Amino acid sequence: MSVTVRFAPSPTGRIHIGNARTALYNWLFSRKAGGRFILRFDDTDSARSRREFAEAIEEDLRWLGIEPDLVVHQSERFARYEEAAAGLRERGLLYPCYETAQELERRRKVRLSRRLPPVYGREALKLDDRERAQLEAEGRKPHWRFLLPNFDDDPFSPRRTEIHWEDVVRGPQTVDLASMSDPVLIREDGTFLYTLPSVVDDIALGITHVIRGDDHITNTGAQIALFEALGAQAPAFGHHNLLIAADGEGLSKRTGALSLAGLREAGIEPMAVASLAVLLGTAQAVSACEDMDALAGRFDPASTSRSPARFDVDELKALNRSIVHAMPFEKAAARLAALGIAGPRAESFWNAVRGNIETLADAVEWWRIVTEGPPETATFSQEDRAFLRAAFALLPEQPWNHQTWHEWTRAVKAQTGRGGRALFKPLRLALTGRDSGPELADLLPLLDREKILARQP
Ligand code: GLU
Repeated sequence: MSVTVRFAPSPTGRIHIGNARTALYNWLFSRKAGGRFILRFDDTDSARSRREFAEAIEEDLRWLGIEPDLVVHQSERFARYEEAAAGLRERGLLYPCYETAQELERRRKVRLSRRLPPVYGREALKLDDRERAQLEAEGRKPHWRFLLPNFDDDPFSPRRTEIHWEDVVRGPQTVDLASMSDPVLIREDGTFLYTLPSVVDDIALGITHVIRGDDHITNTGAQIALFEALGAQAPAFGHHNLLIAADGEGLSKRTGALSLAGLREAGIEPMAVASLAVLLGTAQAVSACEDMDALAGRFDPASTSRSPARFDVDELKALNRSIVHAMPFEKAAARLAALGIAGPRAESFWNAVRGNIETLADAVEWWRIVTEGPPETATFSQEDRAFLRAAFALLPEQPWNHQTWHEWTRAVKAQTGRGGRALFKPLRLALTGRDSGPELADLLPLLDREKILARQP
């Protein structure tokens, strides 16, 4: 079967760089195998899921360079989940429970005090029809648990039941089904938790590899059992480490700070995000990859570390700089044009400034300096003003080329006796309004002689 993966966000907010890691692990994995990538929206929770977020997530993924082969919404697939649930109920593998959260908590404490594992003791399995009818008559509604296959004949005597899998990221993994509670698949109000719809869809969509964050490792044990209960062979699994913020906090869709939308707004290039999201927390050195093919070449899931990877915004900015600095004009042209940077000077302008900016949009300020002059005139000492007047008097006639700056400053040096910083600093300030920036030899040919002279201090 050809490789088929899925990225399964719940559309409850904009996705962040940590979600991008999961999406890209799947995308690169399928790409390297010539497989398929499905975007699955886990939107069974209608109170928290929103269409706008789903659309925004698709847009964020497209920006990042991910084009799904198929998009599915779980909210359109309830009939399948109901059908699977009915089948499990019929076989006694999905059973009704009536405990309140307080009752469960009390039992948990009792078990702990008796040195028993704090898992659900399956008390609801002991209820007979009359007792269930009575509880329902009292107004209690059941939630439904999946009976884990961790016992021989007696569900009240669970025994160690190891589930093994060869994780494509972490290598051999083992989970003991006796160490966990029967998972709740359906809530009291009849809504599905994530587990059953996820497994039903993984089967229906022919998912061959489930690649996701390592916060799902324990779920995987129960899910493998559920695949088998539904008559399917479980797919392969891969669990990558999570990204955490510099302060050690986990990333959340709700905070929005490191959302792809926010990073994009801040002018961060998609390949800077993708390179960091994929290479951070692996044995690979983190550096900017030019495109997805280059990143795919460096992607090696098995080299992922097992501890959380600390994400640092400064590292992202550095990658961004290196991408912008190396960006050829052809790649930047359309975006520059959209910012008003176009015409015969645009290419040499880009080549002059790209090495001195943090984000592509920073080019706008330099474009303004080049086309209109510095936004405000710098103040100069009496001495510098005299120097600048002498220098401007020597400004060669246009047309200018790369040599002009050298010729001009040589002449200025000979005439005024100034050299080094004392010569360059006031000239730079007078021409650009800034005391640092692109090479003046590159900038000068983009400027207009008349405008420069008109601004003579
Ligand atoms: N919606 C789940 C999540 O975001 C998907 C987990 C999975 O990939 O199975 O955690």
